[in-house]
Amino acid sequence: MSRLSVSEMVWSEVKDCLKNVKLAVIPVGSCEQHGPNTTFVTDTDRANEFCKLLGDRMGDKILIFPPVTYGLSNHHMGFPGTVTLSVKTMIDLLVDIGVAIKKHGIKRILFVNGHGGNRVALDAAIQILKYEHEMASYWSSMGTNLARKALEEKYGIPKNIGHACQVETSQCMYLAPWDVKSELKPGELHEESVYFKNPFIDGNAAWDWKKDVSENGALGDATKADIEMGKMITDIALDYFENLINDVILKV
Ligand SMILES: [Zn+2]
Repeated sequence: MSRLSVSEMVWSEVKDCLKNVKLAVIPVGSCEQHGPNTTFVTDTDRANEFCKLLGDRMGDKILIFPPVTYGLSNHHMGFPGTVTLSVKTMIDLLVDIGVAIKKHGIKRILFVNGHGGNRVALDAAIQILKYEHEMASYWSSMGTNLARKALEEKYGIPKNIGHACQVETSQCMYLAPWDVKSELKPGELHEESVYFKNPFIDGNAAWDWKKDVSENGALGDATKADIEMGKMITDIALDYFENLINDVILKV
């Protein structure tokens, strides 16, 4: 099935496909440091390339829009090159995208998130889109969390996963190898910091990644990354999204 992506179309092609399209899909990334291992556009490229593969599976049911290339990265501002939006701007940006898409007649929207820091804005944006703009709105991540069981069975859950680590770097090798540096390094963790002794049961803190978490910006050990792990995570996530769209989102 050939995918529908506005990045590869002209307006008349979009107009013609709207009668079949059931859902708008928007990749959401960041401009954020990923230690010495992968580039600032890692999250954006992972989400964007993932959505292309999803489009190849879903054909004309979904219309893919260009990625949101900046996100919420305040906790990484200690590393030069990182750019963050304010929480309010991020929420407004996501809502504005949804409202514009609805004007073209698509009433379902799914954000595919490549960056954990965006969660708070995505949660707020889908609430606003649903209750203030009557859009069936959803978001989901597309990485580690969906594949935890398989990761545990095949690899044992690697320690300290989540950012520029073995798992994310593996997925980047598979989806966007041009973002991966040739020399990979493990994280230089502040293991005695409060971040790793997080006492919160229900709640969190606004961490400073460089001071609280990792001196070089990475978690875990990206030297153990491999493309097969990246393919496994991605295939699991693609199956999950395909079922989610067919069995839940398109039933609404
Ligand atoms: Zn990332």
